[in-house]
Amino acid sequence: MEDAIALLDRFGDEARILAGGQSLMPLVKARELRPHILIDLNRIAALEALESEAEGHSLGALVRHRQIAASGRFESGPYAALGDAARSIGDLQVRNRGTAVGSVVHRDPTGDVAPAALALGGRVRVLGANGGREIDVESFQESPPDPSELVTHLRVSVSGGASAYQKLGRVEQDRAIAGVAVWLELEGETCRQARVAVGGLEPRAARLPEIESALEGARPADEEARRRIAELMTRRVRAQTDELATADYRRHVLGSLFERTVASAISRHAGTR
Ligand SMILES: Cc1cc2nc3c(=O)[nH]c(=O)nc-3n(C[C@H](O)[C@H](O)[C@H](O)COP(=O)(O)OP(=O)(O)OC[C@H]3O[C@@H](n4cnc5c(N)ncnc54)[C@H](O)[C@@H]3O)c2cc1C
Repeated sequence: MEDAIALLDRFGDEARILAGGQSLMPLVKARELRPHILIDLNRIAALEALESEAEGHSLGALVRHRQIAASGRFESGPYAALGDAARSIGDLQVRNRGTAVGSVVHRDPTGDVAPAALALGGRVRVLGANGGREIDVESFQESPPDPSELVTHLRVSVSGGASAYQKLGRVEQDRAIAGVAVWLELEGETCRQARVAVGGLEPRAARLPEIESALEGARPADEEARRRIAELMTRRVRAQTDELATADYRRHVLGSLFERTVASAISRHAGTR
């Protein structure tokens, strides 16, 4: 790890970190990126750990999508959105190599990990020659990482509740036209706390505070209540038109995805999945 930090400090912008290579190498192959130096993290054993702590889970920078999907820790309950996101990514080869941290750092608007991390109180641990710091994924989405720093961990931490992530691509496990992550905590049928994040929309994955407030105090198990909040989301969210979908289509599917994702989180909350 010290060697990687020293190399980053020495070469700065000329160097690129290589984790799973699933986003970096396609850019290099297309000549969109021509890094002079590649710093390969893959032999730093300390970055391979997926640890469960009292307050959540800590994922080292070499924890792969497949490891998350297969770990059994993200299938139900509070952190299930991360498992949903990992399982929805690309194909087996991509999930075998690609990392959750690499996905958050890459900040692709169609990425699946960032919305799940946002809904789950995600924070990244950053290390550079001048020491370490922790920053929430929300702020990290807003400002590009300093090229001389290494992101060593992604941490997710919420207080109980249940979560889910769903996306729509052109085909299964394709880039997200739209994706929604929801975490909520219920008391009886009333939602006490909620975190909602969307992906597939420009420019970055983002939380939707207005939708979170609409959920809080509502009874989202009621279909009509869910639909009203979904309609609000459809009206308020900004979406772009690109080669995958029009903005109108994105807004439309986002509303339906939201309703389904909330229903999935509620059934997980009840322990019925
Ligand atoms: C065919 C295909 C299909 C895909 N489908 C999907 C999909 O459906 N959903 C989805 O979300 N993603 C998809 N991806 C992208 C995939 O999830 C990548 O794994 C992920 O976006 C990046 O992780 P990585 O470990 O491969 O990062 P890399 O490609 O190694 O790196 C990506 C960028 O992040 C930087 N970086 C990586 N790790 C660190 C670190 N620890 N600290 C600082 N900088 C770092 C690199 O320098 C680079 O700039 C797909 C990729 C391919 C090739």
